[in-house]
Parts: sequence; structure tokens; C-alpha cells
Amino acid sequence: MRIGIEACEREIYEICEILNSNLKKEIELEDLLLQALMKNVYSSDIIFLLLQNLEEMGFIKGKKGSLIVDKEIGSEVLKNISKNILSKILKSKKLFVTPLEVAKFFQCPRRLFLEKVILAKQYKEEVGKTWDGEAIHYSVNIFVKNLAKMQVEQLIEEAAKRGLKKFSGKVTISQNEIIDFLERFYELIKKEGFTYILMEKRFESFKVGLIGTPDIVGIKKDEIIPIDIKLGKVSERGVKEEHLLQSIGESILVEEFFRKKVNFSYLIYFTSNSLVKVKITDEMKKKFLYYKKGIEKMCKMGKIPSKGKLPNLERRVCLGCHVRPSCENIEMVRRIEY
Ligand code: SF4
Repeated sequence: MRIGIEACEREIYEICEILNSNLKKEIELEDLLLQALMKNVYSSDIIFLLLQNLEEMGFIKGKKGSLIVDKEIGSEVLKNISKNILSKILKSKKLFVTPLEVAKFFQCPRRLFLEKVILAKQYKEEVGKTWDGEAIHYSVNIFVKNLAKMQVEQLIEEAAKRGLKKFSGKVTISQNEIIDFLERFYELIKKEGFTYILMEKRFESFKVGLIGTPDIVGIKKDEIIPIDIKLGKVSERGVKEEHLLQSIGESILVEEFFRKKVNFSYLIYFTSNSLVKVKITDEMKKKFLYYKKGIEKMCKMGKIPSKGKLPNLERRVCLGCHVRPSCENIEMVRRIEY
């Protein structure tokens, strides 16, 4: 959670470097966005602002879906444009939150307030689910990043081994469970036939006031699919609302970055080895933005919010809540009679 836009001078220079290396060539917009993302340019808002400036000054010529770099962009020009863009965007006082924070707010506003506003001390378990989740994500990361470099079976074993080693003494899952999961994950990405698989790339939307890092973004010719890995399983009642909200937020981020509609996302559940395809609708996006607005209101009020209102809150959220001791203290103080 943060207020305003962080300085993005580095990003402006990175984009110009890509443009200069394509002098006199036509570059597809989607390629430019992908190349920028690889260089850790988090927001396409900055790319489009820069392109607008460069087009007005005659450095590039825009076409539908592509552009031609006409003249090399020199350092003096770049310095001036960069100053212009920065003075414009740094005025923003927007609250930036992550899709995960919106999901947490939905579960219990007080928990989010204590974790992110008050920065109350968090008590994390020494062994258990939190670390199991870290190990799985780490293994998937190694797997995706080395997919083109190693033989798949060998890579799956290596990735599982390294995931367990990194969090040794903290995890409760076995190497075979991770191997089994990676095998199924590999089947999924093979079936989808992605051209690019982006692993843990950060996205930022100035317009929405959203930052986030989807676990995976799969890109193919006509489709972009955000994918999230969850540790647990899908209950009989279906996907948890908080998982849906997080997935919708990540879809909004990806959609905003590529300026391309995201039709659905995937949620992969480790424990039940199941895959859920989430259809992204306007109604769901509205719901996500409604809760996001709720965070803004909560911050403006500056008061400790009441406990969440979900049925079974105690069992569903409080049991794994890292700020539970602070919350219990608040309850105790509120019981004092004057
Ligand atoms: S213990 Fe429960 S009610 Fe208290 S902050 Fe955590 S989730 Fe919310």
C-alpha cells in the first residue's frame, strides 16, 4: 500500500533504449510492451505518455498497433521529456494497493488496517502453510525460468529439490508432492501453447491505483491469461471470494498494461491438484473496485475498523491471522468500562 507514483526515470530511459535500438524499423506495440516488461518497466501508462511526447516532437510515427522510430532520441531531448512526464505524474496522490490487499480487506478490514496502516507486529508460524506456499512458488519459478535450458523431467526434480532446500526445516510438504504438482503444471502450459510465460512480473496501473505481481502470466497470440497458484483446495462451495477478488485485480492489471481484454484467469490449487478457470466479467471488476474504494475510505477515516463480517470468520480467517495478538488487545481495551 502506498500513496502516489514512485519516480520512474529509469523506466523512461529503458523504453528509449528499446526505441533507439529499433531506429527506422517498425515495431509492434505488443512487442514493445513485452520488451519493456522484460526490462522491469512496470506500467504501460509511462510508455504511452512517453510515446505521446515523442510523436508530438516528431521522433516516432504511430500506426495502428505499431510505430516507426524516425529519429534517434538524444540524451538532452530525453532529459526534457523525462522532466515533463515526472512533473505530471508525481502530482498524483492516489492510494496504490495490491489485489491481495483488496482480498484481505474483503476478509477482514481490521486485519488489513493492522498489517498495512499501523504496521503491527506480525507473528508468522515457524513451520507450516506459509512456508509450504513459499516453497511451491519458488519451485515453480525455477521451473519456468529454466524451461528452455534443461530436460523437463530433470528440471522438475531439480526445481522441487531446490524449493525444499531453500525453506528447509519450515515446510510440511514433500518433494514428491511438488514434483507431482510441477508435472501437472507442465501439462497445462503445454496444452495452452503459450508463446511467453512471464513469472512474477510486477505490474502497475496509474489509472486504477493498483500494483501487483501475478504468479504467472501466459501469453499467446490472441489471449493473455493471468495464473495464480494457491496452496489449498477448492471447497465444495466453490472458489473462495477472496481468491476470486485477487484474480480479478491481477486481470485488471494485465489488461491495463497490455491494453487488451483479459477474458479469463486460472487458479491452480496445489493440495487438490485442481484447476479453476475464472471468467472475468465487468460485474466482477466493479465488485473488486468497490472493495478497493473501501480501503481508501478506511484509510481516510483513520480509525481502527471493526472485525470482518464473514460467516465463520474465526475459523476461516482469524486462525491464520498474523496480527491476532494486536486484534485481541484492541478487543480487550474496548471492553474496559469507564
Ligand atoms: S484476528 Fe480475526 S478479527 Fe482480528 S484482525 Fe485477525 S482476522 Fe480480523
